[in-house]
Amino acid sequence: MSPEAAVAELVAGNRRFTEGHPSFGLQSAHRVELASAQHPFAVVLGCSDSRVPVETLFDRPAGDLFVIRVAGNFIDTYGLATLEYGIAILGAQLVFVLGHSSCGALTAAVDFLESGESAPGTIQHLVDRLTPVARATRRDEGWIEAAVAENVRVTVAEIRNSSSIVADAIARQKLKVVGGTYDLATGWVTPIEG
Ligand SMILES: [Zn+2]
Repeated sequence: MSPEAAVAELVAGNRRFTEGHPSFGLQSAHRVELASAQHPFAVVLGCSDSRVPVETLFDRPAGDLFVIRVAGNFIDTYGLATLEYGIAILGAQLVFVLGHSSCGALTAAVDFLESGESAPGTIQHLVDRLTPVARATRRDEGWIEAAVAENVRVTVAEIRNSSSIVADAIARQKLKVVGGTYDLATGWVTPIEG
């Protein structure tokens, strides 16, 4: 599958999902076939938010998506290593960074900038990681959604620029790194140019 075809598969699956007729609700038929090997075509970096179920919203069966989820869908060392595994070892042709509307992690970063109050426990580590994009998008109206979009842009750039495996695959036209945001209410994924 080409990177362009991989993008088209996700776009088509998201359309099936939003239109209410998904194709891949039952996955048990694939289980035995997948037990011996996996060949996911895309790595998806998404948020942990329970309302953003990656396989469901792209209407893809088990075995298709290599998914990394962390609150705020940013990349760190282990996320990057997981992503590189998906590309170099498993052969994925696409990396998709998936932000979403009303993201609690970016809301926490915005709240921190406004109030100065730290989050409890180690949660502040997440807030600190996301504070730069929140600061860069500061505004009165639509701040959180602007931060969500900017976080996707920044994360796409970080992935492109911090991995020789990614850079080599892009140079050989074997990989694309793209991003988008998922709307909790409509179910649509909107691409973000980056
Ligand atoms: Zn979120």
